[in-house]
Amino acid sequence: MIYLDNSATTPLAPEVIERMNRWRAESFANASSAHRPGQRARVAIEDARERIAATIGAEPKELIFTSGGTEADNLALKGYAIDVFRKSGAWPAILTAPTEHHAVLHSAEFLERLGAPVVLIDVDAEGRVSPEALAEKLRAIADRPAQRTLVSLMHANNETGSVNPIAELAATAHRFGAIFHTDAVQSFGKLHVHADLGADMITLSAHKIHGPKGIGALYVNKEIELEPLMHGGAQERNRRGGTEAPELIVGFEEAAALATTGREETMAAIAQLSARLRARLAEIAGVRFVTPAHGALANIVNVTFDDADALDGEALIVGMDLEGVAVSNGSACTSGSLQPSHVLSAMGLGAAQARAAVRLSLSRYSSAADVEFAAEALDRVVRRMR
Ligand code: PLP
Repeated sequence: MIYLDNSATTPLAPEVIERMNRWRAESFANASSAHRPGQRARVAIEDARERIAATIGAEPKELIFTSGGTEADNLALKGYAIDVFRKSGAWPAILTAPTEHHAVLHSAEFLERLGAPVVLIDVDAEGRVSPEALAEKLRAIADRPAQRTLVSLMHANNETGSVNPIAELAATAHRFGAIFHTDAVQSFGKLHVHADLGADMITLSAHKIHGPKGIGALYVNKEIELEPLMHGGAQERNRRGGTEAPELIVGFEEAAALATTGREETMAAIAQLSARLRARLAEIAGVRFVTPAHGALANIVNVTFDDADALDGEALIVGMDLEGVAVSNGSACTSGSLQPSHVLSAMGLGAAQARAAVRLSLSRYSSAADVEFAAEALDRVVRRMR
């Protein structure tokens, strides 16, 4: 099986497996225990926190370990909004975009049900939010009293790979006195993800960078206070109760080190592969690239077809699977019918074209043979369906 669904999740790196296995074999103690085995676990967690924080130019105390990107997004939006509400009795406005991951969009919808005003910012045809579009929305709510607005805009999109100009968006938010959060789950280890981009909060996840599932982190600038979502013990400086999982945390540390060391060389190699993939896919009749040629993550290539009406999106993915290639289309299958992706719809694609989209996503373990085979397989599947 050729695995080209790395935006959904990645295989564990051998180095990560080895590190986690070693840790599991050596220690099982609770990091909150006072005895020596407990203290060893504490040291492992704090060392990992320090190293992961260093990769993004943060202080260790600014990193909160979570169960993954979903929880980190929830904590950023709800933790911030609830803290503001608790202190002031009024909800902050939340500005986000319709192309965000559901972890952000559904958190915003939840807060809207509680009373927070939520404003969606339009994206352009390539799926990006411009600083001007953000400024326009911020200007429109400028006379709202006091509470600092929260802007949440992702760094790179998980379906299309489109990259938002994060430094400019963060600077725009700050010009209007707003707080800025970015979901960097897809960009971490692939682009420059760093506190110097100016974001006040940054979401990270380990399983998109060959680390384990079930662990991620939220970077929170030390000036910002959040209400915890998990009330319990005093872990994570009272910001997230629950016994830490040292084996997942050391796995995350190993994956982050592998992804950020030599990142530019690795991404240059992946860019060469995806250029080859794009060239081969371009030979398929009627193919249309959803992922922009420039300003997108190098590892994602999302395509649809001019005659999408005549193609069945689900059958495309199943057809690829039968050919031996694992890919996705980002659309959710709800009660037997394939719902067009909310991301592609927000970019202006029609329902049929959104349903027929195929996302191929590469990793550092992908090869030239993989991309050649995948392009030929997609050609065969589409021809058969036609
Ligand atoms: N945000 C983005 C952009 C993602 O791609 C994902 C993963 O699907 C998430 C958030 C959720 O992360 P996790 O799977 O670690 O909960």
